[in-house]
Amino acid sequence: MIKNVVLLSILSVLPATLTYAQGAKSAAKSTESKSSASKKADSKRAAKISPECKFNINGNDEMHYTATIGSKPVISPAFDISIPKSCPLFEITLTHIGKLPKEAMGHNIVIAETANLEKIATGGSTFKDKDYIDPKADSLVIAHSSVVGGGDHTTATIDTTKLDPKKDYSFFCTFPGHFALMKGKVLLVDKPVK
Ligand code: ZN
Repeated sequence: MIKNVVLLSILSVLPATLTYAQGAKSAAKSTESKSSASKKADSKRAAKISPECKFNINGNDEMHYTATIGSKPVISPAFDISIPKSCPLFEITLTHIGKLPKEAMGHNIVIAETANLEKIATGGSTFKDKDYIDPKADSLVIAHSSVVGGGDHTTATIDTTKLDPKKDYSFFCTFPGHFALMKGKVLLVDKPVK
């Protein structure tokens, strides 16, 4: 969603000759490049996302995601992120609960078809300035957050209309080498999981 908002706002101000490649390049930049108007629109929308359409996940210094599922702490890849079909948008907040800087133990969260996981994760490893997302693989990414280090947090918002119930999706970290442990399935579910 964030990606789309940025892209749309860029498209509205740049000449019509803008190529997709340039658009994707600009959109991959940090949210700092956003206008204050689009930031306001974002926070307005975020405020409207109901609690069952949100998920909190942590990243630690041991190269794992952790989360609380049904009051139990779990470590990736032993848990799924379940998205109720009733959620038009689904917001994932990733908090880095470790101490290491993002250059050493950075984490992001990327949502894509499981079939594309390895391609996206390995292809992105050299794109440090683009949150470890290869611009060429951008179209395969459903949603992604920025990369954060210890003590910081970030969000990824999924436009659930992009999820096909017949396909298999995963979440994963594209910091080099992390996807082996930092991954799990993204499931579309009929009812919110408590
Ligand atoms: Zn990571």
